[in-house]
Amino acid sequence: MPSGKDLGGGRRGSTSKKNAFCSFCRKSYRDVGPLVEGPGDVYICGECIELCQSILDQERKRRGSSKQLFTKIPSPREIVAQLEEYVIGQDMAKRALAVAVHSHYKRLMVAEEESDIEIDKSNILLVGPTGCGKTLLARTLARSLNVPFAIGDATTLTEAGYVGEDVENLLLKLLHSADFDVEAAQRGVLYIDEIDKIGKTSQNVSITRDVSGEGVQQALLKMLEGTTANVPPQGGRKHPEQQYIQIDTTNILFIVGGTFTGIQDVISKRLGSRSIGFGQAGDEASEMSLAETLSHVTADDVVEYGLIPELVGRLPVVTSLAPLGEDSLVRVLKEPKNALIKQYQHLFGMENADLKFTDKGLRAIARRAAERQTGARGLRSIIENVMMDIMFELPDQPRGSQYVVTDDVVEGRAQLFNENPPQTKSA
Ligand code: ADP
Repeated sequence: MPSGKDLGGGRRGSTSKKNAFCSFCRKSYRDVGPLVEGPGDVYICGECIELCQSILDQERKRRGSSKQLFTKIPSPREIVAQLEEYVIGQDMAKRALAVAVHSHYKRLMVAEEESDIEIDKSNILLVGPTGCGKTLLARTLARSLNVPFAIGDATTLTEAGYVGEDVENLLLKLLHSADFDVEAAQRGVLYIDEIDKIGKTSQNVSITRDVSGEGVQQALLKMLEGTTANVPPQGGRKHPEQQYIQIDTTNILFIVGGTFTGIQDVISKRLGSRSIGFGQAGDEASEMSLAETLSHVTADDVVEYGLIPELVGRLPVVTSLAPLGEDSLVRVLKEPKNALIKQYQHLFGMENADLKFTDKGLRAIARRAAERQTGARGLRSIIENVMMDIMFELPDQPRGSQYVVTDDVVEGRAQLFNENPPQTKSA
């Protein structure tokens, strides 16, 4: 029986003709079920309707987001304010990033207006120790700008012909995060980590890849500068019979990061100052001096360290991040919007339990993390260790339990126990 809405032209919705087939995918009524009939013997099946719907949704989303991007580019101050919600300290890097990103998206606006003036692209190089917020800054930026974001690792890349990945696979990651919306990916942010490991002086020499890493740097160069890259949709190595997705990298913002271990020696040599020494775990004074030295980093230092000048030339903004001392680590634990202890408190709340950390408890966690010299990265595994047993028991505990993480608990001198046992409050 014909039914459904009037689609115009006097026709009704679904057809009952058993020999009809979908005008889009050519499948028959028998294979795909009911078909909607349009004027002039055209039909469409449910699968194709869904596909059309998702294409339209994506297009609407794309138009919406590009409108949003171009009607209001956040000011550097607004960008910094958004970064503040998630990232502790690193003021210098925040400001440098905010200015670069603001100009970058202005640049897109100018490109859209087809003006004669072309503003150069400002890709960014972040220098700073492990776990001090390089990736977090890039990720938070992308989130606040509402553009696709992906993270790649330079150490996995190899020159064509060697074992490893092509640089185009980095773009594939961006394309994935944009749900294969090529236009959105072309305005995205790509963070490439461990760029220092492909330097000429790298210790990380392997027989399966070009020894100097220069081939990879050359390939990256083109991508940073702006090129139309052929991205294999399945990833992996390119081969001739493959279909490619073309991505223009001109408007992609590249943020490149690395720890550049030992670059402080290059900087202090240039500055003519005595070598100020490495940051020792938990030693705020020497960490400050490392931070101070790093804050003077220039493109020349990075070239001296081993990146080829052409690559550094495509990274006009060079800025550094400071190692996180104990005080900063305590702030990382409690202040960011999704701070670790807030996450745990939320988990406990879901079980109707209450979780508190004493100041000494937080400091003990921070001290342990500082000893590991992996920045804020160590915090999670330390807390996880402390909480392990109680997380196992928690769902079986009576409602209204209360737990307090003290320094004794962190140091393993005491157990984390229910401070509000069931006899005071029956379950
Ligand atoms: P890297 O500098 O090695 O890229 P990440 O940004 O990946 O370090 O940091 C690892 C984790 O540590 C992040 O997910 C975040 O939770 C935390 N973290 C690191 N630095 C900061 C910071 N400055 N403020 C808040 N959290 C931080």
